[in-house]
Amino acid sequence: MATIFTKIINGEIPCYKIAENDSHIAFLDINPIAEGHTLVVPKKEIDYIFDLPDELLADTMLFAKKVAAGIDKALNPIRTGVIVEGLEVPHAHIHLVPIYKESQEVSLKRKVDVSENRMKELAKLISKAVEI
Ligand code: AMP
Repeated sequence: MATIFTKIINGEIPCYKIAENDSHIAFLDINPIAEGHTLVVPKKEIDYIFDLPDELLADTMLFAKKVAAGIDKALNPIRTGVIVEGLEVPHAHIHLVPIYKESQEVSLKRKVDVSENRMKELAKLISKAVEI
């Protein structure tokens, strides 16, 4: 069965899209741990990130680098952190988490409330700043 991320890639489920090319997509995490929390997903459906072929793994990180640059430009965090866990959705992905202050807890267990309007605004701000 297709993963929820494949359904997003295929346009069957909506997302707050940030960027896309032939091989990757980035969109806001629906349960963010910080404003602007973004997921970078290779379109090829492979569960475990370290099962990605070398070239695709490198491309995924390079795509994430460009998206992170957009987050940094649009939202001006101290920096953007990276988390890879993959325990919930069996489709490799990288979490990009803007860190706004040193005391911020960077953990997938932390959730913040972000309104739908703000999610739309964040997606617009970041997508405009990303250069793929
Ligand atoms: P994990 O697999 O533990 O790395 O986490 C999967 C992440 O995907 C979680 O942070 C979820 O909030 C996020 N997520 C699940 N479904 C969606 C969706 N439809 N759109 C955006 N993010 C999602």
